[in-house]
Amino acid sequence: MSQIRSIKGTHDILPSDSRQWQHLEQIVHDVCGRFRYEEIRTPLFEETRLFSRSVGEDTDIVSKEMYTWEDRGGTSLTLRPELTASVVRSYIQHNLGSQAPVQRLYYMGPLFRRERPQKGRQRQFHQFGVEAFGSENPEQDAEIIAIAWHMLSACDLNQTVSLQLNSIGSSKCRSDYRNVLKDFIRPNRDQFSETSQKRFDTNPLRILDTKLEHEQTLLEGAPTVSECYTAEDKAHLESLQNFLTAMEIPFTIDPRLVRGLDYYSRTVFEFTSPVLGAQDALLGGGRYDGLVETLGGKPTPGIGFAAGMERFLIAMDDQSNVSKTDVYFVCLGEAGLSTALSLTNELRQSRFNVMFDPLRRSLKAQLREANKSGARFALILGDTEMEKGTVVFKDLEKGEQKNILQKKIKNLFDNLTN
Ligand code: AMP
Repeated sequence: MSQIRSIKGTHDILPSDSRQWQHLEQIVHDVCGRFRYEEIRTPLFEETRLFSRSVGEDTDIVSKEMYTWEDRGGTSLTLRPELTASVVRSYIQHNLGSQAPVQRLYYMGPLFRRERPQKGRQRQFHQFGVEAFGSENPEQDAEIIAIAWHMLSACDLNQTVSLQLNSIGSSKCRSDYRNVLKDFIRPNRDQFSETSQKRFDTNPLRILDTKLEHEQTLLEGAPTVSECYTAEDKAHLESLQNFLTAMEIPFTIDPRLVRGLDYYSRTVFEFTSPVLGAQDALLGGGRYDGLVETLGGKPTPGIGFAAGMERFLIAMDDQSNVSKTDVYFVCLGEAGLSTALSLTNELRQSRFNVMFDPLRRSLKAQLREANKSGARFALILGDTEMEKGTVVFKDLEKGEQKNILQKKIKNLFDNLTN
């Protein structure tokens, strides 16, 4: 049989990388905890209409990237391509809004999009993100961006990233802007791609997201959404900028930032990192005041962000967090095995990382392994030691060794760490 391999665009997280993942996951838990956000875990698949209704029919995600199939019962199901829709679905289903006026949630997990794989772009990838429901005030926007900033700082990325910020206005502003933008595009409409021409009717704002150079040229000089802001939109964005300045979070206003999904309103933002190459978006988010209502809940303002975990790890490129072996236990001969297992257990109960060799190899081979494992100490138990009730304690760094009584081992190690 030909060898079975993982599917294109999916990756195994191998032992050499998993500690870095755990490290990042721990930072997410710590930072979100500091802001008093609670974790929510939703299923990996949902009804397809959840995503088509919220993310938008004519977005890239819904129109060409979803893994969708028909269940045996005839329902169309989809592997989640993003998490905000699932979190909102859960928020409505469990009536979380009635439990507290502000719901602060965070999540972590895999997502699925059938994109063209390249560095930093996979078909199964991972995001962490936060969502806050209940407040439309700009201090809530500031808190969400602050969480992102704390995450980036905890990962030592805050010095290299840049934050682009914009407001795409309230729904009144966006409907005015749609007309202004269409008036600008109309004379050259036939020079745009088929996709953009379709979006001209369905969602003209999405045309601004184009990656096509000739379309970008056609869009030069286009009016920006800021020209249609209401007084409240302006005040909201101004307050947010003041709060970010007060927290010393640097940002630039990018009047062309609209972000790809349909459900955003007012604040949108993106952190990019120059070390990521072509796929430089590290974290993106925005306000979605109409989304809960769109999905059948009571009108509830909300804001959140999602960050790519693979991209965080590429940007961090940090090997300093490898967990160390404290003790390598060498047992020579079958007679000592029970004692060896009991002693290693005792040390693990005292929270030491202990590696045990199950291959019954020679002293030389096991000590070579011990050095390779980076262990600080080795404990050696042979027939002589068994007779005397001792064990050889070897400091692999200093190269010194001594005999100690087996019953004193735990004490010795406990004292070493004090
Ligand atoms: P989005 O949900 O598209 O706003 O993406 C949020 C973040 O997820 C981006 O800033 C990226 O860091 C990450 N991301 C999006 N798509 C992919 C992908 N296909 N592979 C890896 N990371 C991704």
